[in-house]
Amino acid sequence: MERLFISDLHLSDAAPELTHCFERFLELHTQDINELYILGDFFEVWIGDDDATPLTERVRESLKRLTVRGIRVYFMPGNRDFLLGTAYLNTIPVTLLQDPYPIEIAGESALLMHGDSLCIDDEEYQAFRKQVRDPVWQNELLQKPLDDRRTLAQQLRDMSKEANEVKAADIMDVNEQEVDRVMHEHGVSVLIHGHTHRPARHPLSDLRERIVLGDWQTDSPVWVCRTGTAGIEFLPLPLPQ
Ligand code: MN
Repeated sequence: MERLFISDLHLSDAAPELTHCFERFLELHTQDINELYILGDFFEVWIGDDDATPLTERVRESLKRLTVRGIRVYFMPGNRDFLLGTAYLNTIPVTLLQDPYPIEIAGESALLMHGDSLCIDDEEYQAFRKQVRDPVWQNELLQKPLDDRRTLAQQLRDMSKEANEVKAADIMDVNEQEVDRVMHEHGVSVLIHGHTHRPARHPLSDLRERIVLGDWQTDSPVWVCRTGTAGIEFLPLPLPQ
């Protein structure tokens, strides 16, 4: 079973060249894989499955091409696209994963996460996360007209950008004790997540490890995790132009 793990593409209408890179990436790097996992922040913003745009249609088509080739695709929501749901995914089809998601990888017990829930030192963000992940809040939001949701999403992004500018860098990284707690709770030796845009392979005590997937920029290779017959690999793949 060959699997590829990616996250934090932040696809958006504002960056069509990145969408193009993603399409070329799929052509080049999925020829011998069985499963693709997208661990959140696939899109820069998602205000509801009813917001069909040329971008969402284009991405739907490229994922559909994978599934037609027999590749299974999995998606876990991030803090940007937590409203992305089955109304969109089922049409491809892509399987929606809960965060965290336990899985066996190359004979190891592993856990997949987006990663934002591990950043518990950022109390302001965690309070916000609790609110926007509440199904009642989400339902109310999804009843609003698309224009209202678009305005609100922009306001939230502006606020988050402003808040993050004054936060110390380590506050926005994962909390090591929380990593330890979550890994013990699930009894796993491997944790794979994204979100922090700090790609790295961190060895932990007791032969455990934490792998942080990279964010996507058109001008640099993207750090991905690939697992299968070669074990667990963490490697930079060039983004084809
Ligand atoms: Mn994120």
